[in-house]
Parts: sequence; structure tokens; C-alpha cells
Amino acid sequence: MVVVGAGGAGLRATFGLAQKGLKTACITKVFPTRSHTVAAQGGIAAALANMGEDSWQYHFYDTVKGSDWLGDQDAIAYMCREAIPAVVELEHYGVPFSRTDEGKIYQRPFGGMTTRNGEGPPAQRTCAAADRTGHAILHTLYQQSLAHDAEFFIEYFALDLIMDDNGACTGVLAMDMSDGTLHLFRAQGTVLATGGYGRAYFSATSAHTCTGDGGGMALRAGLALQDMEFVQFHPTGIYGAGCLITEGVRGEGGILRNSQGERFMERYAPSVKDLAPRDMVSRSMTMEIREGRGVGEHKDHILLDLTHLGPEVIHKKLPGIAESARIFAGVDVEKQPIPVIPTVHYNMGGIPTNYHGEVVQLRNGNPDAVVPGLYAIGEAACVSVHGANRLGSNSLLDLVVFGRAVANRAAETITPAKSQTAVPQASVDKAIDRLDNLRYARGSTPTAVIRDRMQRTMQADAAVFRTGETLAEGVAKMRDIHASFADVQTTDRSLIWNSDLIETFELANLLDQAVVTIVSAENRKESRGAHAREDFPQRDDENWMKHTLCSIDEKGNTNLDYRPVHLYTNTDDVAVIPPKERKY
Ligand SMILES: Cc1cc2nc3c(=O)[nH]c(=O)nc-3n(C[C@H](O)[C@H](O)[C@H](O)COP(=O)(O)OP(=O)(O)OC[C@H]3O[C@@H](n4cnc5c(N)ncnc54)[C@H](O)[C@@H]3O)c2cc1C
Repeated sequence: MVVVGAGGAGLRATFGLAQKGLKTACITKVFPTRSHTVAAQGGIAAALANMGEDSWQYHFYDTVKGSDWLGDQDAIAYMCREAIPAVVELEHYGVPFSRTDEGKIYQRPFGGMTTRNGEGPPAQRTCAAADRTGHAILHTLYQQSLAHDAEFFIEYFALDLIMDDNGACTGVLAMDMSDGTLHLFRAQGTVLATGGYGRAYFSATSAHTCTGDGGGMALRAGLALQDMEFVQFHPTGIYGAGCLITEGVRGEGGILRNSQGERFMERYAPSVKDLAPRDMVSRSMTMEIREGRGVGEHKDHILLDLTHLGPEVIHKKLPGIAESARIFAGVDVEKQPIPVIPTVHYNMGGIPTNYHGEVVQLRNGNPDAVVPGLYAIGEAACVSVHGANRLGSNSLLDLVVFGRAVANRAAETITPAKSQTAVPQASVDKAIDRLDNLRYARGSTPTAVIRDRMQRTMQADAAVFRTGETLAEGVAKMRDIHASFADVQTTDRSLIWNSDLIETFELANLLDQAVVTIVSAENRKESRGAHAREDFPQRDDENWMKHTLCSIDEKGNTNLDYRPVHLYTNTDDVAVIPPKERKY
């Protein structure tokens, strides 16, 4: 097996596979513990009921409702049930969770997490290690990986999937970034765990390395990506810098205020207020700013107030964000509110999979046809457990649950030590030609210039609120920007740490996904979850309760199709939640 990516998803799969006795390689472009998962702050959801009433069925209900009924209910049931053993397992592996007085894992409230199917009080469901949960989890997973016999290829950049004539994946071609040598990894199973593509936008909370390389490779292999129009804006990115202030701040009692000092979320979500799901809070903030109640010189942002929480809560529960606010906003959170603005945070869309992590495509009328040899997990994948809007703390959960699921599936289906099939030479040659073309590209537009145009266009035209007009304009602009890549200019021809070349590969991956995102957004004529159209303000289950599939060819032509949403749970322990209006 070869795993591309060493974030939470990739590491959980890597050591799980090794544990099952499969020979496993893990390729990563950054050192494992520098993957974006390290930056996750708030926590990981699991209905442990350590701090009040809870059950995995309530978690299931909240996740279906949070997804605005676009999530696949079989996958959501699987994730919410498996959450409990998966988090207990993390504790046993050594994650230093915060504790209650009784010594149990500490759990905080998070947006959209409720009890009794939305009728009860907010659930305390999000397990946290202060506000550095991702850091704690990633380091523990890396330590576990080292304890097992998996081989790491660190600072190797995966270029392309190697596909045979039957459409099966037989491995991946990668470059050692330190010396430019090429390495062909041949495997019975290739797992894409490459994270999100937040950097298609100008302002994002994600690391600069979140360039969606797995999605780019899948598109170049002719596969369709799913639900790419659903991009989550986190309500509280630091104004200007874009760094994240975790939802955990509101979980601990922090309040959003407009220029009049008003707690405006009381008007938009009377019952859960500041703990409404992210799509709703981001839209409410945007409304306040539009109606002239923003703060600052340009009245273009909002304040997050935690001055009333007191130094003890801040030191114990939120030390990391106190530091971020000081460094990136120049604010002492004990005395001043933090200036915040909705910022791109998470990609609900990605490489479509079933809940075993196997990549699926629509083939000959079968919407669930498995692509042999290919798996996807984590933010790169679309299972789909998050549907049209992810609930906070369900992503770290998705990483470990589906990382583990891939290991279990591979153990059942793969024969260890079987000899590899012949190398599909045409696929390898194509990848090497592409590398040569970009390495020697003599166009007139530098990589950074094209990237800047793409990021500004996506930020302006595929934003929190969307209209047919701005989307159509955005599609036309993105198609031009995509075409301008034929004129890209690289200047460094060497193969030793050629960051010019690596950034150009990353840009190619981002460009394909940016086009697919905005084309899918223009196509979906309804509002659902994070996709809010002013010209189609209602959800339209009759016509649009379906997953978008979108692929793109070498010339930039896109092709749209659909898969049905799974309205079944595969278990008698929980019933399907029929669609209804999503109110909090
Ligand atoms: C600031 C921030 C805070 C967050 N907080 C939370 C939270 O509290 N709770 C929660 O549930 N979610 C949170 N999220 C979301 C969650 O952290 C991410 O969705 C998740 O960590 C993604 O993990 P991943 O394993 O899929 O990918 P990443 O952690 O992004 O890792 C990607 C891996 O792929 C490798 N890679 C990528 N491309 C290539 C290539 N071409 N070749 C080789 N290797 C490659 C990278 O080296 C890296 O190892 C947060 C996200 C951000 C940005």
C-alpha cells in the first residue's frame, strides 16, 4: 500500500495498514508533524457523554441536519457510531486530552451539536486538548506510526497517479524534492490523504501547503470530484491575517458583537445564538456588515468578545488563541475583543468515496462503481459525511474514522506480497512529459501572478453569498485564468529544492479545482448549507437533493453529472432523518 499524505488521515491509515501486516509506504511533501492537522484547535467530536447527556444517535441527527440533508446517511451513521471507539483508542495511544475533575476526557460545546434531536440543550461533545487538539493528535499518531513497520518518504512530492488501461490505479509517481530524483511507487492500493485546497482562495485559515494535490491528481486521471461548490467559511478568521480563532472560543462563552455592541446572533438563531453552525454565523456576520453595522475604519468586520470569560478560563482552555490574537491582531484578549471576518476554512467537496474509503465514480449507470486500487480519506475525500456544511470537530473525527476504515478494508481485500502488475508505461511517460514541460516552461506569466489572479477571483466570485451574475462572471474569469496556465513561466531549471517548480505543480492542482468549484456553484440553482444563492434563496429538495460530480479535461472543458444522496442508514440502530427546514 502507498499512502500519499501524513496528516491525521494519512498517518491513521499508514500505521493501521502496517499493523494489519501490509507493507506500507507513506509519502509526504512536508514533515509529518507539519501537516495542516497540527493547526486544528477546537477538538474532535464523539458522543462519550462525559459531561452530560449524549448518544451517537443525537450526533447522527446533528450531522445530517448540519449537512443540510446532502450527507450520505449510511456514512454518517458509521462515523458517529465509530467515533466513540476511535476517540477512546486515541486516548489509549497517548493523546493528552484535557480532563474533567473525575479524570475523564474534557468535552466542550460546539456549533450545531445538540441533544434529543435538536430539542434538548447543547451537547458537550467535542473532546479537546486545550485549544491544541490537532497538535496533540498528530504527534501521537506520528509516534504510533514510528512504532509500527511503515516506511516514510519525507519531503517527496507526489506528481501523478499511475493508472492502467482498465482504469485501475497501480501506484504513484513522486519526486524527492531534495535532489529531483523520480520514484515510482507500485502498490495494490494507493490512498490519497492530501488534505484540502483552501489555497485556491485569497484568504484562508489553512496552511500554504493545502493545495489539493490529491484532487488535482484525480482530475488528471479523468475522475470526477464531488460537491465542490460547498466551501466552508469559518466565521472567525483574524481580520487581515486570516489565521483561525477556534469555534471553541464561542463554545467556552465568547460572543460576537457588531458596531453597536449588540449580540446580533440572538436575532438570527434565537436558541443556539453564537453556537449556530458555521454557514449560518458567517452569513449573519456578512449581513451585519452589509447593513452598516460592521466595525473598524471600513466597517468591514466584526468583534469577538471574550473579555468576560476571565483569565482562568483563557489560560486553561484557550492559551493558543490568546497567543494568536496577540501576535496576529495585536490584541490582549483579556481586555479587548478580537477583530474577525468569515474566512475560507474547509472543503466539503472532494474525491468521492464510500464509507470504506474506496474511491467511487458513476459508471454505466452505477453511481457507486469502485475505482480499483484507489482510496481517498480526510479533507481530500468526500464520503460524504459533511454534505453541504461540516459541523466543527467532525473533521478530525472523519480523519481517524476513515483512516482506520481504509486499513480495515485493505486488510480484507488485499493479498500481502502478491507480485505487482506490469507498469503501465503510457501513464508514467505522460507524467514525466508533464514534469518536463513545467520545468522548462518559457511562457510570459510567472506562477505567482496566475495564482494571485485565481485567488482573488475565487474570493470575490465564489464567496459567502453568491448570485447567478457573479458566478457566471467568475466562471468566465476562471476559465481564462485556467487557460493562461499554458503561458506559465518557470525560471529555475535545477532539480535541487526547486520551489518554483513545486509551486507550479501546486498551482496546476489548484487551478483545476478552482474551475470545478465555481462551475459546480454556478450550476446548483438552490441554497443549501454553505452554498447560499441570493437568486435561489430556498433549498430545493425535489431538484437538487443530489451530489454534483464534475470533471475537467486537459483543455479545461468541464463535465457535470450527479449521484443520488444515500437516504438509508444500513443499521437498525438509527432511522433515516427525513428532510425538513433547517432552523436553530
Ligand atoms: C486552522 C485550522 C483549524 C482546524 N480546527 C479543527 C478542529 O478543531 N476540529 C476539526 O474537526 N477540524 C478542524 N480543522 C479541519 C481539519 O483540521 C482538517 O480538515 C484536517 O486536519 C485535514 O487533515 P488531512 O489529514 O486530510 O490533511 P492535512 O493535515 O492537510 O495533511 C495533508 C498531507 O498530505 C501531504 N501532501 C499533500 N500533497 C502532497 C503531495 N503532492 N505529495 C506528497 N504529500 C502531499 C502533506 O505533506 C500532508 O502530510 C481545522 C482546520 C484548520 C485549517
